[in-house]
Amino acid sequence: MTRSAAEPVGTSTPWTCPFCPLLCDDREAAAPGCARSEAALAALAVPSTGAPAAPAAPAAHAGHARLHGQPVPREQALRVAAEWLHAARQPLLAGWGSDVAAARALYALACRIGAISDVCGGEPLAQALRAQQDRGGYTATLAEVRRNADLIVCVGSWPAERAPRLFERLLAGREQPPAIVVLGDGVDAPRSITVEGRGTDVEGLAPGQDLPTTAALLHLALTRPQRCADERLGALAERLKAARYAVLVWEPGQLGAHAGLVIERLQGLIGRLNLSGRAAGFPLGGADGAATAQAVHTWLSGLPLRTRVGPHGLEHDALRLSTERLLADRAVDLLLWVGTFPDQRPPDGDRPRILLGPPSLVGALGHALGHESATLFLPVGTPGVDHGGHLVRCDSVVMLPLQPVRHLTLPSVAETVNALLAELQRLDAMEVAA
Ligand code: SF4
Repeated sequence: MTRSAAEPVGTSTPWTCPFCPLLCDDREAAAPGCARSEAALAALAVPSTGAPAAPAAPAAHAGHARLHGQPVPREQALRVAAEWLHAARQPLLAGWGSDVAAARALYALACRIGAISDVCGGEPLAQALRAQQDRGGYTATLAEVRRNADLIVCVGSWPAERAPRLFERLLAGREQPPAIVVLGDGVDAPRSITVEGRGTDVEGLAPGQDLPTTAALLHLALTRPQRCADERLGALAERLKAARYAVLVWEPGQLGAHAGLVIERLQGLIGRLNLSGRAAGFPLGGADGAATAQAVHTWLSGLPLRTRVGPHGLEHDALRLSTERLLADRAVDLLLWVGTFPDQRPPDGDRPRILLGPPSLVGALGHALGHESATLFLPVGTPGVDHGGHLVRCDSVVMLPLQPVRHLTLPSVAETVNALLAELQRLDAMEVAA
């Protein structure tokens, strides 16, 4: 299916915004009502036009492939990329910043070349998964939080910084908005928020402890209140117990180096609350296609990312197979990196790298992103901007269809990776014939 040929949505048609884990689908692309969404669309403007990526506006050209810093025809770039992949002894497929179809194609490529796969922002994803594997957990969907929550506690960060419409989506239409508490030191949260013209207070609670200690003390205040000396945490524990439906919101990527421990502690706390009442977690993560890549890789292989396709089959190791560690240890000899969203930047280094990114990445290549001497760049479209597709929302139960907003003729990641697979097949056939 050539999804890049799909018609862009009209200016009055609802569009699914792909730029944060919420995947808002209730506004038009021309007026998303969100500064993050508008900034992301502007950041994806094609360099040669110099114009922002106005919804449904035709763009002049789709960007060129580059090899060692020089423009080359796409066919040549695909040929060279396939030769590099064919010759690599231990390739790494990193980033995975695209959609469902891209993840399916990348998994097929990993199986074909015996690669290690890891996602951009893989560390918080891996820590959250490990906590889930060790302890399990209770989570709620966006709709459940909106319908039921009467107390929302944001732990360790103010999530609206990265998902600006979160509280609008949780509070809109509520006759009685939930109480909102922000727990943690150094969190920059507003004193109140306004949704549908109505203000709701945001209470801050900074216990003067690091986050793992704060989570442990709150757990203590809940389970053995007489042993917790912090009165404010004791009071919060009482409110959590008294709530009809308490929801803890956290962003795995904002919980620090010990995110897994914090998440385990929070899930323990939620489990305790559920013995006598109702509570759930709402983890907000997996942006830029990470949750989607994790889901697709797991469907297809039975294992999450940070998995290697090796001579003895699939091998998953959440610690050893991280992009950062593999690159630092020089354990891979070729990097193929996919990042189609504006905040995604490929790792630097002196090993050969094949980069699949939006044309706007060209401006950073050779400057902020280091050398281009062993770099092959293939411009690709962004799902939900240049072509349709599907992404998994942060609550992992909803997969939303995406619609393009402009008339660029960029191939998708899936089309590009499938073209690489075809080139690899051609190389195999040549070897057999020789
Ligand atoms: S909150 Fe997130 S998904 Fe919603 S419009 Fe803003 S960036 Fe897009």
